[in-house]
Amino acid sequence: MIDSGLLIVVSGPSGAGKGTICDALREHFPNIHYSISMTTRQPRPGEEDGVNYYFTDNGRFEELLKEDAFLEHAKVYDHYYGTPKEYVYQMLRQGNHVMLEIDIQGAMQVKEKYPQGVFIYIVPPSKAVLEERLRGRHTDSDEVIAARLAKARNELEWIDKYDYVIVNDDLGEAIQKAAAVLKAEECRVMRNANCIEETKQAYQ
Ligand code: 5GP
Repeated sequence: MIDSGLLIVVSGPSGAGKGTICDALREHFPNIHYSISMTTRQPRPGEEDGVNYYFTDNGRFEELLKEDAFLEHAKVYDHYYGTPKEYVYQMLRQGNHVMLEIDIQGAMQVKEKYPQGVFIYIVPPSKAVLEERLRGRHTDSDEVIAARLAKARNELEWIDKYDYVIVNDDLGEAIQKAAAVLKAEECRVMRNANCIEETKQAYQ
């Protein structure tokens, strides 16, 4: 049977506004649980272990890979990132929604394993705006920014594998659109087997 909770997969270039949109969605939908990824990259200023990511080293990450502990994983900018599997499945089994903010390589692995997920791609309005946002964060060197822009260009080829695309031109509108997507997905017949059965019985 299909889980009633949604596995919500959000991708898009760094700087597209994914994080802000995902935070707003979690306020609108209190039953969204955020899956904390594991990564081998260094924490940025203000980031906390167990809050933004579980920070670890290559050795430990590779050990967990061998144990098949991840729903998906990817190497992004030379660092490992992965979604611990157990938490996601546990939350879905309990009827909760789970949100993954992951890159395209990872999203495609999730799609293979869990095609009934909701796959959303957030696009910045233009390359110029994306570059401006990346520079405005003052966290990355010119080299890293150039790599992120090149990656964003390549990733555009993958948008048609997603179910929904949201252009983050106006933040308020982008949040409304994403919330509308989730509301509609909650109403899908395939996710409401129990409720349909109860309704049928009530009419007998
Ligand atoms: P950042 O280092 O800026 O936090 O993230 C870099 C990229 O890695 C972003 O595109 C982000 O969505 C992606 N990412 C974060 N966590 C995961 C994960 O668990 N799996 C995958 N595949 N990508 C992730």
